[in-house]
Amino acid sequence: MSINISKYDPQNIFAKILRKEIPCKAIYENDFVLAFHDIAPQAPVHALIIPKNPYTCYSDFAERAAPEELVAFSKAIAYVAKELGLEDNGYRIISNIGRDSGQEVPHFHFHIMGGKQLGFMG
Ligand code: C5P
Repeated sequence: MSINISKYDPQNIFAKILRKEIPCKAIYENDFVLAFHDIAPQAPVHALIIPKNPYTCYSDFAERAAPEELVAFSKAIAYVAKELGLEDNGYRIISNIGRDSGQEVPHFHFHIMGGKQLGFMG
């Protein structure tokens, strides 16, 4: 199924998580971001970090987010990785953007993955 990242869909699953209409295993939250465990982990540690405001993808976020939001999001990634014990052995952050990347959920998010030696993806 092809997703639409040109217009934000308030019915997407992460919007529902933010509205607490469906549950998640939360890791960290502040005024700007929510981090939670991926429901279908692709690595021993697989978390997602999402902004609370509605952005469809990284490009949308980078273009429209306020500076304090950009800073908070960036710092939260490093904080969550540390909280999850990934700092010593390292980890990977990725964000899928649009059809060719395989983005499934049209609410901007970063994946934080680690806990094993990760193979190359692509
Ligand atoms: O980057 P992409 O959009 O493909 O990733 C979406 C991610 O959201 C998937 O890794 C999927 O397992 C996760 N997901 C989740 N909780 C849901 C629905 C999807 O963690 N309720």
